Amino acid sequence: MLENKDSGKTSISQLGEFGLIDHLTKNFTITQKSTVKGIGDDAAVIASESDKQLVVTTDLLLEGVHFDLSYMPLKHLGYKAVMVNLSDVYAMNATATQITVSIAVSNRFPVEALEELYAGIETAAKIYDIDVVGGDTTSSTTGLIISITAIGQAAKEDIVYRDGAKENDLLVVTGDLGAAYLGLQVLEREKEVFKVNPNSQPDLDAYTYLIERQLKPEARKDIPKLLAELKVRPTSMIDISDGLSSEIIHICKSSDVGCNLYEDKIPLDPQVISTCEEFELDSTTIALSGGEDYELLFTISTEDFPKIKGNPHLSVIGHITDVKEGTHLITRANTKIPLIARGWNAMKDEE
Ligand code: ADP
Ligand code: MG
Repeated sequence: MLENKDSGKTSISQLGEFGLIDHLTKNFTITQKSTVKGIGDDAAVIASESDKQLVVTTDLLLEGVHFDLSYMPLKHLGYKAVMVNLSDVYAMNATATQITVSIAVSNRFPVEALEELYAGIETAAKIYDIDVVGGDTTSSTTGLIISITAIGQAAKEDIVYRDGAKENDLLVVTGDLGAAYLGLQVLEREKEVFKVNPNSQPDLDAYTYLIERQLKPEARKDIPKLLAELKVRPTSMIDISDGLSSEIIHICKSSDVGCNLYEDKIPLDPQVISTCEEFELDSTTIALSGGEDYELLFTISTEDFPKIKGNPHLSVIGHITDVKEGTHLITRANTKIPLIARGWNAMKDEE
């Protein structure tokens, strides 16, 4: 009924701003007991439990800067935009409970495109058990802009900051590193091939894990839970959005300590190793400087080592030193080189 006869797509103007908001948000349900009022009033209302503290975090994603719609399906973009935020909540060792979603869209996007974006947001909200409790909708003259704010909670004594790492603590990372950056390289390469030959059928079988890590990352909701079960309270924690070396340096600067990171301990997926060989890239550099892994990096006291030893999700990759020793990578050849913070954007500029 709403469809435009020419394109089969619905223009945003056919719905109007309020119609669009209703249309996009009608499927959201409330499952968190702390959500008192969700979408539909001037503000959402969230109950605070007296023994808990709230954590709040926001990320802003711009088309052309943070995502490229030529290979990022809108559904995946919606999902990823939520993951980016939840990852920050989990990095505080907190439970994520609500998000708000703000979008700026041009009339280049039909309603059906926004439905896709919201389908991804809805899937993420269901799987991660969070309520979408508000947002804002406005027009953009250029690309798509998405800003998500996530709210979470934790007992005061459970919240983990970046500044608590102590000398001799162990440096631990979840999952494996570098795959998301390589996934982006594969997608960029295919985009160039497609430009030259739009009929080419890409064979991406060798890169499925890498592409999934780039297009459909998962935030580590399981880790705060696992740490609680193991009765391990990290001394510091951060999520890996910009690459391992820059996150380690953040922890070391905030905590006023140094560290030794061991190259041979950095966890890499076999697809990362084989694709680095194919692209003639150094896998350690990719793990250190590639971004968007959304794994967690934390430090624990050596006393807690037996509790995490052998856990398949966790790798000990180094240890904390006195600040005077600086931050170093110990290579496989046993040489010591200073860690430098190069985000993946900086890495791109060098190419
Ligand atoms: P106001 O004018 O008070 O900012 P709006 O009309 O923009 O209110 O929003 C009405 C309701 O819809 C509010 O609860 C708001 O949080 C929610 N909302 C608006 N835009 C979005 C969106 N893009 N996604 C989710 N909720 C939204
Ligand atoms: Mg508004």
